[in-house]
Amino acid sequence: MRVLYFIFMVFCYSQIMFAQDFKTPFELSNGLETATYEQGIAFYEKLDAQYEEIKLFTYGSTDIGKPLHLAVFSADKDFDPKSLKAKGKSVFLVINAIHAGEPDGVDASMMLLRDIVQQEKLKKICKNTVFAVIPFYSVGGVLNRNSYSRANQNGPKSYGFRGNGKNYDLNRDFIKMDSENAKTFVQIFHLWQPDIQIDNHVTNGADYQYFMTNILANPALYAPEMADYFKKEFRPDLLNKMKKKNLEMSPYVEMRSNTPDSGLVQNVRSSRFSHTYATQFNTIAMVAETHMLKPFKQRTEATYQLMLSLLEILEKDGVKIQKNRKKSFEYFQKQKTYVLDWKINDKKFEMIDFKGYAAEQIPSKVTGQLRTFYNKSKPYTKKIPYYNVHEAKTTIEKPKMYIIPKVYGNIVKMLEMNNVVVTRLEKAETFKGVYYFIKDYKTVAKPFEGHYLHSDVVVEKKKAEYALQEGDWVVLTNQPNINFIMNVLEPQAPDSYFCWNYFDIILQQKEYYSDYVFEDIAEKLLNENADLKKRFEAKKQQEPEFAKNAKAQLDFIYYNSPHYEPNHLRYPIFRVE
Ligand SMILES: [Zn+2]
Repeated sequence: MRVLYFIFMVFCYSQIMFAQDFKTPFELSNGLETATYEQGIAFYEKLDAQYEEIKLFTYGSTDIGKPLHLAVFSADKDFDPKSLKAKGKSVFLVINAIHAGEPDGVDASMMLLRDIVQQEKLKKICKNTVFAVIPFYSVGGVLNRNSYSRANQNGPKSYGFRGNGKNYDLNRDFIKMDSENAKTFVQIFHLWQPDIQIDNHVTNGADYQYFMTNILANPALYAPEMADYFKKEFRPDLLNKMKKKNLEMSPYVEMRSNTPDSGLVQNVRSSRFSHTYATQFNTIAMVAETHMLKPFKQRTEATYQLMLSLLEILEKDGVKIQKNRKKSFEYFQKQKTYVLDWKINDKKFEMIDFKGYAAEQIPSKVTGQLRTFYNKSKPYTKKIPYYNVHEAKTTIEKPKMYIIPKVYGNIVKMLEMNNVVVTRLEKAETFKGVYYFIKDYKTVAKPFEGHYLHSDVVVEKKKAEYALQEGDWVVLTNQPNINFIMNVLEPQAPDSYFCWNYFDIILQQKEYYSDYVFEDIAEKLLNENADLKKRFEAKKQQEPEFAKNAKAQLDFIYYNSPHYEPNHLRYPIFRVE
């Protein structure tokens, strides 16, 4: 009996020691510290070595030269995405530390993945769901550890920096793909094709009672059945689950005016952001934003519970979500028009309960001016308006195909990385269609994310013919990822490749004329072209300033002559309509 007791005690002790082996730096510091890059990767390597249901993958590279890791839990011990999809498994993808100063998801994911593999009760929620975690997205940012850059954040003791190794904000990089991180991510995304994706952050801004706020995708971005499921089932289910855990969530606190009392707004977010990017591919995507003023420990626990709730929903609704995703791809493929840009309808809103703190104006001890003070001794719950209805701002008809001239191999590469089928036509053929001419656009005065980003693009369509040359590429629009295609190839889309400067070279005129020589040519042109002469004379009559300006007159003739280069301001991707 004594021997048995001894064996039992040794067993218990070894189990405790074993569990101790998998304690995270977060737990060992009682919620004061976040795992370093080395600690995090070592932790996942250990889980991979110990448990057959966990595998740690490395993919591609990041700007800092290290790969992107992906830790995967698969109850079947099957780690082949294609085979998992064929078996009907759902995929839940987590992005952590894309802003490395906001590490809550890093530690929450380590604990959740461990708990799922170690606790039978939790394992049940991953029977049909594959749980995939990117432990550190901005590896360069994570390695740039400090204790100061998050000036208002309540822990952990030290953390990474918002910019990556090259100072890019990687949550603006999903379309332009300047970073190796983004190029590697899109590979992971299209390989695993997540049904739900979460990107874990910590927010700045106003003070209020919530630990967790969320940026859910704008339902207008989803196909009708998915939007219906999202609004009627997914969102209420998620909010209820968190409420039951005493972790009631608010929408991300973007205020109409200076304080939450003025109402919240769900701002339009284009596809440069992780969740909108994923939504383009019909993934249910969200950004978790814990509140910076709450202690790191509770923030991380809330992130853990949010991911657990999402896993529960996916395990329950996986079949439905997968079916809706499939239908969404079919729906968009059949559409004739596409929305490139959205605006908030500022007349429509719903009233929501908001748990805030009274915002008071008190004299500042630093500046002597009035400052906002959120009075924690005066918590309130009140109804406030939430503006979350979006309507189309720019809608474009789908062409039959786009022709990409052979010199734009870089554009083709980016499309192919995003699972777009780009083809080459065998025989020489001439197509009828249109070119866009860029009539107007705005450009930021200072670089934004390494770019002089354009916006408010105005185009003019001009009918033309395109004689396909050997080496030109064709993008047929009858394909599942058409939403993405339109959003990057149509210059008016806010995150088009045009706006991100991939075609700036067409905005520059290469040849000009010398006035004294062109005088004679201009005279000849007017004499030989009655229509041009008529328009020229009419313009002089109607516009006195023009009639007095010799340069403007020569310009007018030049720009209306064959001497003016046809490619100036011509967006080179041809639309076959
Ligand atoms: Zn962030």
